[in-house]
Amino acid sequence: MTKLTVLATGGTIAGIAGSAIGADYRAGEIGIEDYLEKVGGLGLEAELSGRQIANIDSADMGPEVWNALHPAICDALKDPECAGVVITHGTDTLEETAFLLDLTLPADKPVVVVGAMRPADAVGYDGLRNFANAVRVASDPEAAGRGVLVVMGDRVFAARDVRKVRTRGTEAFRGFPRESIGLVTPASLEWFGAPWRQGRGAAFDWCDALPEVVIVHAYAGFDRAGVERQVGENTRGIVVAGVGEGNMPESARQALVALARRGLPVVRASRTDEGLVDREPEDEENGFVAARALNPQKARILLQLLLANGITDSAAIQQRFDRR
Ligand code: ASP
Repeated sequence: MTKLTVLATGGTIAGIAGSAIGADYRAGEIGIEDYLEKVGGLGLEAELSGRQIANIDSADMGPEVWNALHPAICDALKDPECAGVVITHGTDTLEETAFLLDLTLPADKPVVVVGAMRPADAVGYDGLRNFANAVRVASDPEAAGRGVLVVMGDRVFAARDVRKVRTRGTEAFRGFPRESIGLVTPASLEWFGAPWRQGRGAAFDWCDALPEVVIVHAYAGFDRAGVERQVGENTRGIVVAGVGEGNMPESARQALVALARRGLPVVRASRTDEGLVDREPEDEENGFVAARALNPQKARILLQLLLANGITDSAAIQQRFDRR
């Protein structure tokens, strides 16, 4: 039997409503031991050992839990008996954790992040199926070499592509620019294409004190004051959730140019749901970086890691954003 380590962080997958049809529920209620007992009846073809890292609503996910989660994953991956890791997580910030781990873990064993949109006692709970699917993916040697994977709604996504696009319903995740990279059910798994990261180590060393990067959200009427209000003494970088293809009003642009000249990297992403933000000729003059396919919250994670590794020059930052 394939041995997998399950690291639990909470979320709706471990949530309880107290009623099969109620609207309200609490995320992060079921402990990992109880959860593994619950899935024990599914007949999954893997031996699961669990560890509770946190039991939170993923709105509260951040450095504190990441600093416990990352070494726990590394320990599991180092164990020759462990074939892969499954992480249970709330869906609200799942894409940020998955992308951060993708950039800081080696790609030699499967690491799969999974959540649910309905609490465990709700009618139509999707968590058991998603979990069974995640176990199937993590048990497949072909899952290695694809970076951190996210399993939701019978689909497999690469961490870099995935994002939550809906507040409700079980089809809440999509990928961009690649849609899903595989289809999974508890009984089957089909990959679209071959692994692309075999044998590669982590892109970045782990950093337990990520620098402060703020996301400033553009809107009609956004201006210099809107930028300056959000940039504090400790801010080391800025991501703009720009309108359209990472655009912003002139007054805000001028404020950001001034900050870029003071040495704060400025990355232009888009507040739209999906699409590329490509480099434009003015970026050179402005000292800006184009986020390409990354949404603002993922652009923030990448910028934090780059800054933590001493990469502060906008051309070098752009190069890393350009790399898929
Ligand atoms: N608020 C929940 C969380 O992110 C939502 C979910 O897991 O679906 O923890």
